[in-house]
Amino acid sequence: MRPSPSIVWLRDDLRITDNPALDAAVRRGGPVIVLYLLDDASPEVRPLGAASRWWLHHSLERLRDALRALGADLTLRRGSARTELPALVEQSGAGAVYWNRRYGAAREVDAELKTRFTEEGLEVQSFQGSLLFEPWTIRTGSGTPFKVFTPFWRACLAAGEPREPLDAPSALEGVEGVASDDLDDWELLPTAPDWAEGLRETWTPGEAGAHERLEAFADEHLGEYHRRDEPAVPATSMLSPHLKFGELSPFQIWHRLQRDLDASARKNRAKFLSELGWREFSYTILFHFTELGRKNFRPEFDAMPWRRPEAGELEAWQHGRTGIPLVDAGMRELWRTGYMHNRVRMVTASFLTKNLRIDWREGEAWFWDCLVDADEANNSASWQWVAGSGADAAPYFRVFNPELQAKKFDGHGLYVNRWVPEAGTPAYPEPIVDLKQSRQAALDAYEEVKAAA
Ligand code: FAD
Repeated sequence: MRPSPSIVWLRDDLRITDNPALDAAVRRGGPVIVLYLLDDASPEVRPLGAASRWWLHHSLERLRDALRALGADLTLRRGSARTELPALVEQSGAGAVYWNRRYGAAREVDAELKTRFTEEGLEVQSFQGSLLFEPWTIRTGSGTPFKVFTPFWRACLAAGEPREPLDAPSALEGVEGVASDDLDDWELLPTAPDWAEGLRETWTPGEAGAHERLEAFADEHLGEYHRRDEPAVPATSMLSPHLKFGELSPFQIWHRLQRDLDASARKNRAKFLSELGWREFSYTILFHFTELGRKNFRPEFDAMPWRRPEAGELEAWQHGRTGIPLVDAGMRELWRTGYMHNRVRMVTASFLTKNLRIDWREGEAWFWDCLVDADEANNSASWQWVAGSGADAAPYFRVFNPELQAKKFDGHGLYVNRWVPEAGTPAYPEPIVDLKQSRQAALDAYEEVKAAA
């Protein structure tokens, strides 16, 4: 008897190589329906921001091409997974459903569907595809989740070598007659105005673009990773959006960096892998505290007297018109490219939450909309880290001084000149806030948090 079709439900894993769910469908045999569902109806799923929607459009196009070359297709549906997935099972007569796990609140949706399909007699399996270490497997000696990074990462490294990546299937059998949306009808791309020029210049979404970036990083940039704090130096991987959309897996990165590196790259490898470790840490925090994007991880921060922004203040920060060159440079880089260098993310976030004393959720939401790597775990965890309310957070009283940061990490002004060429001329605005006074006001406000602790 011919096997019934399998459904592979893709989410943050838009790749063909090292995709355990796709691999399981191939091993089961029979036709495969590869589904991407734009879930804009489940309350557990946060709608993508504008830059991420741009990325998603292009990534899905590349994925569709790759699937077609193997003999299958990409099925697109839109709506709530709770209704769309059962509908597709029914329409197609699928006998199996596979997916790679996700770790935030949306895993509730997955759990419900797993129970339902299992009761209906389908084979349902979820896999480890996006994280090197599953959050529930890494625990302290007393069995609790880690809240501090360094011992967390030590425990991960002691847990053993991550598995080897899986090969891509050599061919797929598709299914005729399964209805799919037209990608263009989702209107993921900006039109009036088309603000995506800087994104197009900077990125190549899709699995092939991700691997090119990884190879270039391994060959040319990893050796410079000790200069990763200098925003004008191309020393980091810029793999974050590819990782966010799962166009490549951390297993692939890990194993690529075990071979074919020159001596300087080898020297920097452990540090780079520990940054991937921060991603694992953020996901572990999210797994145990799925409200990370909305609520203070440290509840005493509920007592923080955030300021209500004055008219135009938030907009000045968002659009790079604060009169503080490094802050403005970062915000303009973000607006133009959908990316901001990590050091400058810290500086701009500190400026918002400490000098302007505006609630971190405002900044998190802006980044969510503008970043091509906007990530449910990393964005919230990092904002809370800077604000002081997070796990293993920078202490609140450590206020980044953007002028000193610029001196230290952009000494020749290359980064600032690129994004804020008018800095230092009469055309440039005066600072919207006095750095020294606002720092002191932030420290005074923190006393209220301490009192609530
Ligand atoms: P690399 O230095 O090459 O690092 C490799 C990978 O490790 C990254 O792609 C990323 O997946 C991970 N990584 C690196 N640093 C961190 C970190 N501090 N925390 C968690 N993971 C890390 N990262 C996101 O992926 N999405 C976000 O939405 C995001 N928002 C942030 C918001 C703020 C306020 C701050 C301070 C940081 C944020 N980061 C976020 C973390 C970090 O800035 C980016 O991951 C990094 O700049 C991406 O560039 P890269 O790929 O060249 O990094």
